[in-house]
Amino acid sequence: MNKPSTRRKPEHSTHCRDLCGGSTTGLRHVLSAMPELAEVEWYRKQWNPARGDEIVDLSLHPRNRVFRGTNTRSLQEDLIGEKLLDSGVRGKRMLFRFSGDNWLGIHLGMTGKIRVESANFSPGKHDHLTLYQRKRALVFTDSRQFGRLRFHQGLDEPDWWKSDIPEIISPEFDRKFVGQFLDRHRKAPIKAVLLMQPGFSGIGNWMADEILWRAKILPSKRTGKLTGREHAAIFRATKFVVRKSLQTLGKNFSDPPRTWLIHQKWKRDGICPRHRTPLRHATIGGRITAWCPRCQK
Ligand SMILES: [Zn+2]
Repeated sequence: MNKPSTRRKPEHSTHCRDLCGGSTTGLRHVLSAMPELAEVEWYRKQWNPARGDEIVDLSLHPRNRVFRGTNTRSLQEDLIGEKLLDSGVRGKRMLFRFSGDNWLGIHLGMTGKIRVESANFSPGKHDHLTLYQRKRALVFTDSRQFGRLRFHQGLDEPDWWKSDIPEIISPEFDRKFVGQFLDRHRKAPIKAVLLMQPGFSGIGNWMADEILWRAKILPSKRTGKLTGREHAAIFRATKFVVRKSLQTLGKNFSDPPRTWLIHQKWKRDGICPRHRTPLRHATIGGRITAWCPRCQK
């Protein structure tokens, strides 16, 4: 654990202020502004204490955008009396399985969050779904409503959950898969390709920058210009960043290692953790990107 006195508060770029409202409550707030796979994994686990317990009541905002395409009446009627069994995560998506062949899919979007409250909780304006159990309330909240809640009934998992895209931590995400995916997007800058969910499931803006910094590759470099060695470096860095993020953020929302780029990337005077060269910033692939002009070529 870091001592509170040594934790530096990040300064906020205009973009970051957009995302997190200019709050300076610390790095964790910046990270959680746009959940990527490690944050999603952490949120998924918040409802773990509720497994095995029955849903006794339910409250939702039926016309809210987060329920687009979902039969909220069925959700309201059918989930009561059922037990939460387990949950899983794929990229940035979560699926919660309930008894009685009921399934609830959650995508956090930009500002979605999952938490547990006491059993007498009253939902606020942004708490679009609250599942009450005898001992607690399970809450989904989303101020900007880019998140999504989907309800499904059936013996088999929902079609919208099925996927051939390998999770990065799985053995199917290998050199060959990455090489073929990069070859299919030769014209795009590599930063944009790392944000493509069919290839890099669960990767978002901060992880993509971290991967490229670690692999020492310029984010604006055309993917078709990458060498075989650079393909290998991207593959290794992706596995590493994902594994470490799951061990820190994904496990208990603790910060990734202090030597990572994430601790510098939002600062106006951020420096490369390798040799303290000032970082550069530009919009690449539609997202604010930070890189070191000295070690990323
Ligand atoms: Zn550097």
